[in-house]
Amino acid sequence: QWGQLRKNLLGTVGKNNYANWIEPIEFSDIKDGVAVFTVPTSFLGNYVSQNFGELILHQLTSAGENVRRLSFQVAANETARPRAAAVADTPRNTSRPAMQDDLLPGAPLDARFTFDTFVVGKPNELAHAAARRVAEGGPVTFNPLFLYGGVGLGKTHLMHAIAHELQARRPDLNVVYLSAEQFMYRFVQALRDRRMMDFKQLFRAVDVLMVDDVQFIAGKDSTQEEFFHTFNALVDGNKQIIISGDRAPGEIKDLEDRIKSRLQCGLVVDLHPTDYELRLGILQSKVEQFRDQYPGLVLTDGVLEFLAHRISTNVRVLEGALTRLFAFASLVGCEITLDMTQDCLADILRASERKITIEEIQRQVAEHYNIRLSDLVGPKRVRSFARPRQVAMYLCKQLTSRSLPEIGRRFGGRDHTTVMHGVRRIEELRVQDGQIAEDIEMLRRTLEA
Ligand code: ADP
Ligand code: MG
Repeated sequence: QWGQLRKNLLGTVGKNNYANWIEPIEFSDIKDGVAVFTVPTSFLGNYVSQNFGELILHQLTSAGENVRRLSFQVAANETARPRAAAVADTPRNTSRPAMQDDLLPGAPLDARFTFDTFVVGKPNELAHAAARRVAEGGPVTFNPLFLYGGVGLGKTHLMHAIAHELQARRPDLNVVYLSAEQFMYRFVQALRDRRMMDFKQLFRAVDVLMVDDVQFIAGKDSTQEEFFHTFNALVDGNKQIIISGDRAPGEIKDLEDRIKSRLQCGLVVDLHPTDYELRLGILQSKVEQFRDQYPGLVLTDGVLEFLAHRISTNVRVLEGALTRLFAFASLVGCEITLDMTQDCLADILRASERKITIEEIQRQVAEHYNIRLSDLVGPKRVRSFARPRQVAMYLCKQLTSRSLPEIGRRFGGRDHTTVMHGVRRIEELRVQDGQIAEDIEMLRRTLEA
């Protein structure tokens, strides 16, 4: 029964998810409408429950089982941990206390997040290079390495890649990866169970500590305190620390100043929003990965370019779009054309549409030409204001859906014919004047980023 269910799950969740999450769980029995599974760690149980719970439940009920709920229980004296666990399996330090599995730090690694599958482009090359350096496992160079950037830009991917690489190169090192949320969870659990000494010892025995999404502990005072001590102890012991956050350390609200300054003393690098070229590269590489799963489906360059243009900078959204496109085409048995793509992804495309406002354009243009906003929209007609003003009008016409009269109103109540004249003038100049063409290209890129 479970064997069949597993087979179905393999088909639905894909090879990698299956290997990471489904393989390690064991079915034990069904009692009073509750299906009980044994899992190696509570983290894995939570993850499976959150991400695949509904699916498993659905499959059980469609197989005729009377199940209302799933329960994941941590195996009592489980020795085998999932293959991908970030926790070093052989304790080097014999004085390290034997712990319950769910007290061990570290979360499973995603097998797909390696350096091989990470596509490098201008926006992420620095972060990638820094991650590579740390992953060499040589003497500690920058400590901590702080990676930051918006959601879906590859922070977690890079951290997992470092962990994979280190595990391969330096199996002697105790490499621990976990999210700041898990750090807090472990900490609270240790407090509750009065096992703070164990907790401290455990974290002090780590050689490389990676904490993902550190902004999570902002405002959580005692967790921050413990994090600070853990951090200091490791740095003092010359152990490598790698932290990620959604913004620069100094900009994380409600994070203690002493932590901010600690986070700033190593190397701080950011992942910029993806640009067109990087998105195209990522799409090509993902299509390559889909080839096994969907033989026979092709994506034309036209569709790829369309996606790279129109879908947001968030790589997760890009991947989601591609997955949906392939799944849809293979289910319906149709070709992936531009039309079909627009239909199939209508909601994602709508959500990705960046609404650029007139204010934004005015602000950027004023900044670009180093003039005051009041002069940009003011009455003065000197060339040094008039030209930027025309550029701004042109961009408003091109990048927003505002009408000429409305644009005129927002530029100090000018007439729509003035706007039209300005727009035409810039259209001419774009062809004749390299500088203007360059200015516009740059502004447009900044605005669309
Ligand atoms: P973050 O942690 O910054 O929110 P993730 O690391 O989880 O983002 O990345 C989101 C998704 O996008 C993951 O599936 C990841 O593999 C993918 N991804 C992000 N950047 C890249 C890249 N440069 N090359 C390939 N895949 C990427
Ligand atoms: Mg992440």
